[in-house]
Formats: sequence, C-alpha cells, structure tokens
Amino acid sequence: MQRLALFDLDNTLVDRAAGFRFWALEFCEAHGLDPSEVQWMIEADGDGLVPKEAFFAQVRDRFLLDDAVAALWAQYRERHPVLIPVCPGVLSGLTQLRQTGWKVGLVTNGFADMQSSTITNSGVSQNVDGWAISEAEGVRKPERRLFEIATERCGTTLTAGGWMIGDSVSADIGGGQAAGLRTIWIDRGRLWPDALSKPDHMVPDAAEAITVLLMQHAY
Ligand SMILES: [Mg+2]
Repeated sequence: MQRLALFDLDNTLVDRAAGFRFWALEFCEAHGLDPSEVQWMIEADGDGLVPKEAFFAQVRDRFLLDDAVAALWAQYRERHPVLIPVCPGVLSGLTQLRQTGWKVGLVTNGFADMQSSTITNSGVSQNVDGWAISEAEGVRKPERRLFEIATERCGTTLTAGGWMIGDSVSADIGGGQAAGLRTIWIDRGRLWPDALSKPDHMVPDAAEAITVLLMQHAY
C-alpha cells in the first residue's frame, strides 16, 4: 500500500473546539455579555454541525442584538478561523511523515474561505501536499469524489490505497472505508458505535494517529 495519509481538518489536525471557545469569549467581551454565556454558545453550535444562520438567529434573539444575522455570520467567518490552534505534535508529525516518503492530504467539509483561512493560519498549509474543501469542489465527505480530488492533488490515485484519519464517524471513517482506505478514528473520548464497521485504529488525537502511521510502514 502506498504511503498516502489523508486527514480531516477540524478537530483532527486543528482544535476547532478550542478556537470556537476563544471566539465565543471574544464575542461575549465585544457585546458586553457575561462570560458564562460561552457554554451556552458552545452547546448551541453543536460542535459546528448547527447551520450558522440558525445559530446566529438564536444568538441574536438570546442577547437581544441589533446586528443582522448575516452581519454576525460574516464577522464570525472572518474571525473564527484565525483563532483555531493546530493540535499538539501535528506540525512536527506531518513533517516527519513527509520526510519518510508519505504524501499528506487534507479532506475537509466546510466553506472555502473559512477552511482556507484555517489551513493557512494554523500553519498546516506548509506541511501538506494538497487539499480538497467541500464547498470549493461541490462535493462533500463521505462521498468518494472529495477523497479522490485530495489524492490527485497529492500526485497519486486512490486505487493504490492509503489511510484516512478523522474524528467524524460517518464523513471520515465511513467515507474513508467506502473509498477503499484504511482508517484511524480520532475518538475525542467517545465510544465507537457498535453497529458500524470498525476503523483499523482508534486513538485520542492526531499525534497518536501519526505515530500509528509511522509504525505501519517502518523501515
Ligand atoms: Mg472533524
């Protein structure tokens, strides 16, 4: 099997949850809200899965803001990606993978502007061979095509196999399996759903996943 590692971005290579907390704190300060509202915002965001129009409509109602939902969302799109930190050990780990002959790609669902900004600001852009963002390509994980595009940008093809690493059960692991890839699930303290086909490995974070990859193909 070729040395191809495709990674999810949010809550895999970068700590989107920490970035959201930073953003929510800033938002509370800027609007004179009690910092304890950060917890409500984290819950309302649903780990990023709640559509942002719905989220900001709730925010506007709860805090009696004059700002339009579209304006709040626009500010968020620009600011949040800047606040998302890379996960510990990721930059050095990706460097090590590439030094040992791995091609490293990114496969992410999200908005083109936000994901590009996150990739650049976190420093990840310097350490990968290519990426595919769902909005830019018009196709989302778990669909095979997005994995294929990222792989092509790494200069290779999916037919030679490889690995997909991510925190989403369906988008990353289900999608990776369907694309013929071996998989590593970033569990973030969760249990794997019994009914579903298991990933090849389950680890707490990306640094551990990179260690697994390096061991699979040790010289
Ligand atoms: Mg993710």
